[in-house]
Amino acid sequence: MAPYRGIFVHGFAVDAEGRKMSKSVGNVVDPVDITHGGKDNTQIVYGIDTLRWWVACHATQHANIPVSSNVVTSSAESVHKIRIVLRFLLGALHDYTSNHNEDDLFLLDRYMLHLLHEFHHQVQNAYDNFQLNKVCILLTNFITNEVSAMYCHVIKDRLYCEPADSTQRRACQFVMSHILEIVTRAIAPVLLHLAEEVRQNNKYFVITGQQLFRSGVVMPEGDWHQTEVSRVVNLALEVKRALNKTCSSTNTQQLKASVYTSGETYCLLKLMQPEEYSSWSQLAEILQVASVRLIESKSPLKFHVELAETTECHLCARCRRYTSDKTDEPCTRCRQVLANIQPQ
Ligand SMILES: [Zn+2]
Repeated sequence: MAPYRGIFVHGFAVDAEGRKMSKSVGNVVDPVDITHGGKDNTQIVYGIDTLRWWVACHATQHANIPVSSNVVTSSAESVHKIRIVLRFLLGALHDYTSNHNEDDLFLLDRYMLHLLHEFHHQVQNAYDNFQLNKVCILLTNFITNEVSAMYCHVIKDRLYCEPADSTQRRACQFVMSHILEIVTRAIAPVLLHLAEEVRQNNKYFVITGQQLFRSGVVMPEGDWHQTEVSRVVNLALEVKRALNKTCSSTNTQQLKASVYTSGETYCLLKLMQPEEYSSWSQLAEILQVASVRLIESKSPLKFHVELAETTECHLCARCRRYTSDKTDEPCTRCRQVLANIQPQ
């Protein structure tokens, strides 16, 4: 009887030119050289995770698998990028207390949970169908785009500058704790050492106190899937893309934005900023500007964005936002936060 329930067959490993590996030609790449740096320890030690990522990325494309130093280096870089984001999440959770009230979540937080729910099911589906290369693509895209470039970038003000125990800061930590858990479990079958390393340094996994691979399956909550929330936040992200096109600089924090819109779009954006003018609304957070003026217009256009330099507000040295009413002084929010910090 076979000592396994199923067997997955993949293409041959060939050299960078697509030639069969052969001792006489001298183009054989020994996996031990990749994982341990060669018998005489003269090569780079990439470790087992990089080798497994390379296999997962290439082994399921119904073709022969090229292996060369460039391909292995590129796999090592991909693993490193994932590790950097997971390390950022771990650091951001250093003082997190898990007794958070989900009613306090911003729409952006709910949107991230919605994306996390979608990501989990797509990855599981790819694993179930042995589409390991698809797993790698899903992981890379999700971690690079949605987690790192979108969510972690946008919530930095809340994370670093709001009071440590404030509901807005705890809300994004709550979401980040779930991103960390779902993503770690998603990488685990391929990058097992990295996954276990994260688990050992994270005390907030749902199931703790035992090895990751013995901790069972953790499913995202069904109510994370919220298409209506996704619609609202996607609209704000659409405004942000239009704003970025209008602006020549990548730093938009010095700008005040006027968003002219009408009808349903106006009503949806109002959910993220009920007041006409704000520097602290959920819309201002997503647009990453000094302030937003949301104006109902008669225009048939879906929306129209105008940008101008902030002249009435000054740079706050603490939060690096243009929200202070005096030069060389923290903004009102930061002054309050600083006043409430107890001396150690
Ligand atoms: Zn400030």
